[in-house]
Amino acid sequence: MGVIRVKVRNYADVVERILIALRKSERLSVWHKTSSFSHPLYCLHYSAKIADAPTLYVSAGIHGDEPAGVECAVRLIEQLADTTHQNFFRLLLKEFNWIISPCDNPYGYEHDTRKNALGNDLNRMFETPNQCPETKFITESLLRTQTHPKTKITLALDLHEDTDSTGFYLWERRASTSSPIGNAIVKHIENICPINREPMIENHRNDNGVITLLDTVTTKGWTRGRYLAEQIQTRCLILETPTLLDLETRIKVHMTAIETAVKHSLKSPNAAP
Ligand SMILES: [Zn+2]
Repeated sequence: MGVIRVKVRNYADVVERILIALRKSERLSVWHKTSSFSHPLYCLHYSAKIADAPTLYVSAGIHGDEPAGVECAVRLIEQLADTTHQNFFRLLLKEFNWIISPCDNPYGYEHDTRKNALGNDLNRMFETPNQCPETKFITESLLRTQTHPKTKITLALDLHEDTDSTGFYLWERRASTSSPIGNAIVKHIENICPINREPMIENHRNDNGVITLLDTVTTKGWTRGRYLAEQIQTRCLILETPTLLDLETRIKVHMTAIETAVKHSLKSPNAAP
């Protein structure tokens, strides 16, 4: 017998906020969209004033029961589109190019379930992404970054949540030749929420909130992080907030992690040498 799932959130609200943001800023555009699928999927592009600024990729909601990432990604889009209030952080964020995929599993988002309508865990489908419209959309977006030299991704952030964890932690997938930034992010997050310091998480060694996946580690299956590492050659941080905390705190944690990651991994193009 099939499970009847109740709709708890409205993806149309997400789409409406995206469309409002698009009307506000000419620097923000739809970079890639599907219309053939039951829910239109959006990948947005924000182009900085300095065209050769580094490009960041933010994705959220591939697991539908992890809503804080979606809300954070939509707020990031709204902040980038907002031309009236320009505080320090917003100015900093606006110095970079962004590719934002804010809600990658609309069915799951609406029904508060990890998987898509067909029961696929989309974050394990990246070996053969064309099997699912959602992962096909994601990889088509990512492959576009390869054909546009100005949009080569410098850093990817995939926003997740964990229903079992009592604290924040992250997965840092990087080349063994690149320097780590995960610990610096955890240091900023520990002022906002508890950190998960259990020695092992999902059979991986957790070093005070940072699980490091070097080079082409395969132990997590065919996740987006692995696809980014192997096909796009991009480092990726997979952020995990504990769902037992209130939603606003989790959104703040994601936003702080994004800001800290940007500061620690990239020099602002306007910064003095
Ligand atoms: Zn997840």
